[in-house]
Amino acid sequence: MKLPKVRELIEAIKALIKGPYTSKFPKEPHQPHPNFRGQPKFNDKKCVGCLGCEEVCPVGAIAHTDEINDKGVGVRTMIHYTDTCIFCGQCEAACIADNEGIKLSNDWELSFFDRKDAYETIKKELALCEMCGEPIACKDHLKWIAEKIGELTYSSPTLYLARLKDLGIIDDNIISALKNGGHISSQANEPPSGKNTRDDRVKILCARCRRKTTLTTKK
Ligand code: SF4
Ligand code: SF4
Repeated sequence: MKLPKVRELIEAIKALIKGPYTSKFPKEPHQPHPNFRGQPKFNDKKCVGCLGCEEVCPVGAIAHTDEINDKGVGVRTMIHYTDTCIFCGQCEAACIADNEGIKLSNDWELSFFDRKDAYETIKKELALCEMCGEPIACKDHLKWIAEKIGELTYSSPTLYLARLKDLGIIDDNIISALKNGGHISSQANEPPSGKNTRDDRVKILCARCRRKTTLTTKK
């Protein structure tokens, strides 16, 4: 009879005392190692919708759509495709929100009956250009920029108006009054003229409309 080697004997004794190395999944839930690299998850309270993670993802597992709903509210949907992700962690490493807008999780149960269901989303509200109506950036992203650059925020009407409106310090009537020498008029509720003159500079504008208002004078 062939005798077991010493190493095999030690392992057999250890297995008898400690139990098997393998888990009893699916009979018992499997607990992954704390450092296991599982599915990245968005955190909608931290994410500012900057699209940085989408830029760096090497396999295109992150995408977004921008839509304006029936009420005129712009919504950005951030999408993570579970079936495409390779769990490299680049999205978390590049996230501007202190690496907490998206984070690798311990989630490893990623099977789906239908591959079309293999995605997760979060939604962020967009700031829209007050001249052309096109999305500028997510409101949370403008707020993030304003907090980062501090008093320099006041060099950009788009940034300071978005910030002051967010804080509830200023509204369209006050902006209208500022442009009319302190007299509040009904102008705030009037539709945009579409002429893009310098009178329109004190507005939340996209880069293209800001350029037009800077270069165009009223005739
Ligand atoms: S972990 Fe890597 S592959 Fe997956 S979404 Fe993030 S960057 Fe893309
Ligand atoms: S804040 Fe982070 S998670 Fe959100 S879009 Fe930007 S990089 Fe991606």
